[in-house]
Amino acid sequence: MLDEHAPVALQQQIVRLRRSHGELRVQQLLEDLDRHGDVIDDPVLWLDTAAKRRFRYTPIEAVQRCTCGADTIVPVGRFVYWNLLGICRCATCGVLLASPRLTDAAMRGIFGSSYFKSQPPAFWGERREPIFAEILALLHRYECRTVFDVGAAYGHLLAYLCTSAISGAGCEVSGPTVAWGRANLGVDLHLGSVQEVVATGIGSTFAAVVSLDTLYYTASPVDELRAMRRLLRPGGVLVLRLRNGLRSLARALMHRPGRIGAPVMPAGHLWAFTPTAMRRLLAFAGFEVLETGPAAYSRTSLLPLHGAACATSRAAARVGIPLFTRSFNIVARASDGG
Ligand SMILES: [Zn+2]
Repeated sequence: MLDEHAPVALQQQIVRLRRSHGELRVQQLLEDLDRHGDVIDDPVLWLDTAAKRRFRYTPIEAVQRCTCGADTIVPVGRFVYWNLLGICRCATCGVLLASPRLTDAAMRGIFGSSYFKSQPPAFWGERREPIFAEILALLHRYECRTVFDVGAAYGHLLAYLCTSAISGAGCEVSGPTVAWGRANLGVDLHLGSVQEVVATGIGSTFAAVVSLDTLYYTASPVDELRAMRRLLRPGGVLVLRLRNGLRSLARALMHRPGRIGAPVMPAGHLWAFTPTAMRRLLAFAGFEVLETGPAAYSRTSLLPLHGAACATSRAAARVGIPLFTRSFNIVARASDGG
């Protein structure tokens, strides 16, 4: 693509980069650009960003269709996370999504090498105990004795629930994390995504499927939700904890299409969901929502403040004000009762 017919602006950019970064580096960048193919819609901007941010080749893909099935994807802005990515909004269901985004293989590579590595495994179990206690209360409310944890990480939730006579299993895409959980917590962890686990024929036997802060990492959340549904026994419930996409939406309003801005979503997230958007996606996946509420926070020095925010948001929701807490829980049941 970079012959004499390349646009003048691109040729000028290449000349500039050769002066500042050297022939070898520019050659590498041009090869990477070629490998990305049609996914790069602005090669001049991509080359400039890749040179300044010192990109190593990381595969990306453009999303043509939202997880809700609509092709009404509107570009909002651009941000950098391992590569030059885009932020878009679906005009049909209201979710924010990354496009272009890292491919599933690239995501798994990043998770496999750097997952939760900033602290020892036991730290994460202790830090998330307030969240686990809230999930336990929800499971008691719906009288669930068996659970499948999607995106279980080390399996701390499963170990926590076990002490309250709730048994179960989970899945996780990070190999080292699964190995640690099996060896140190004795939990039943499957290596892979929930869609891969369902494909092995595990069966619809669980009273609850729980997924804490994981749905934004999957390429197709609706397909993921449908797979979760297949793990539930008749009448079983799905319990999701999610970061509230309202903040991402607010940040997205400050972006301009074509310009690079601050990341709108937390690192690695492919989607941002508000409670309203989640209701729509759950309906697409064959669920009816039973309840939505503010989610408990991890154990940090700000826990009392967060607790007050949850109480305020819960009260405000009674008079129709959308949940504004950083995270929310949503409980749903298969809409056909099965
Ligand atoms: Zn959509």
